[in-house]
Amino acid sequence: MTEPPTDLDSITAEYQAAKARLAEIGFTCEGSLVCRYRCCQNPNCRCADPEQRHGPYWQLSWKHAGRTVSRLLPADDAALYQEWIANRRALEQILDEMRDLSHQAGEQILASRGRPLHGPDRPRRRAA
Ligand SMILES: [Zn+2]
Repeated sequence: MTEPPTDLDSITAEYQAAKARLAEIGFTCEGSLVCRYRCCQNPNCRCADPEQRHGPYWQLSWKHAGRTVSRLLPADDAALYQEWIANRRALEQILDEMRDLSHQAGEQILASRGRPLHGPDRPRRRAA
């Protein structure tokens, strides 16, 4: 990241750039995807060797009504969801950036009117 802009023209330019990137975002998906390997617990199976475990299994997990729900996905579906989850993270990052820039713009504009903004700080998103 570059230094945060401090004058209103730069803030506006960064905001326009963020909007342009927003327009490029494809489909999104909630949740996260993990790749798992499993041991079937049969001591005679090849998976007794940690290098020879079964898999990969792609597991999509998300929150539903406060609980974590998981589904196993075939590899080609997993590839799609992986892309959509990456899109969602990009979307959230752009929205965060737009909110920060808006906050800075508000400070700039009101300071220039001699009425510095002491409005709400927006809540910080937890690091995903
Ligand atoms: Zn096994």
